[in-house]
Amino acid sequence: MSRSVVNAMTIDVEDYFHVSVFDGLVPRHAWDGMESRVCANTERLLEIFDEANLQATFFVLGWVADRFPHLVRSIAEQGHEIASHGYGHRLVYDLTPRAFRQDVRRAKALLEDTTGLRVHGYRAPSYSVTPKSLWALDVLIAEGYTYDASIFPIHHDRYGIPISPRQPYVLQRKRRLVEAPGSTVRCGPFNLPIGGGGYFRILPYAWTRWGINRLNEHEQRPAIFYLHPWEIDPDQPRLRAPALGRFRHYFNLNRTEERLRALIRDFRFGTMLTLLDEQFTTSAEPAVGPLPYVWSAP
Ligand SMILES: [Zn+2]
Repeated sequence: MSRSVVNAMTIDVEDYFHVSVFDGLVPRHAWDGMESRVCANTERLLEIFDEANLQATFFVLGWVADRFPHLVRSIAEQGHEIASHGYGHRLVYDLTPRAFRQDVRRAKALLEDTTGLRVHGYRAPSYSVTPKSLWALDVLIAEGYTYDASIFPIHHDRYGIPISPRQPYVLQRKRRLVEAPGSTVRCGPFNLPIGGGGYFRILPYAWTRWGINRLNEHEQRPAIFYLHPWEIDPDQPRLRAPALGRFRHYFNLNRTEERLRALIRDFRFGTMLTLLDEQFTTSAEPAVGPLPYVWSAP
């Protein structure tokens, strides 16, 4: 496998009952009463990364940081990048610009106060920056974020901008914002996701290995990989969800840790910030109009 390119390892730090697949099953007011497993699962990931001498980016949910500040400090103390997954795990296109602004502001301030370090990056719950919610990018700039990782260039029932660029790009708005899309390989007219989450867990590992190797070798580009702490926790409580949601959430939980270990043996990984810094030094020319839409800032 390719060892020439450093890919980005990213973790969305949230609990099993936060995921959008289960929206409505566990109402927000009940979150505090649920058995939380996010600390133990994240600490397990930290051990795996420590053994491999790997630095990753953790997009931490503000709700988690509020309850478990020691977890956030521990991630940062081990040299990983802390980024923001917003505060309340609400889909961006379900929010008003004003509510979104409050959510990302609250999360950034909390994470920065907890660690004493600047937060640069944001990833929306369920990649919910879509053609309906591009205004969110202007809000992120206004709130001091320098990169976003919320646009997946694929067709999906809940998210995605299939005609958006497949590789990181610069959006020149009031100020610049780097967009770091989820990784795909091009297959005929389609972009197929190869960068983690359910695709990593549900499809055979050979799919991810082939896809990242193809990006690294064929396109000489890094991949951006993502995973959640609950994905390595086969013992998590089972929630009563519709069948498709149950399949997406529970399938192969018992094999994911072993796969993750194989992945980080097969490829090199670092933080998102390092990857983007290397690609976009200050002199880099911004790609003009990389998103084929016109929108105004809120
Ligand atoms: Zn999430």
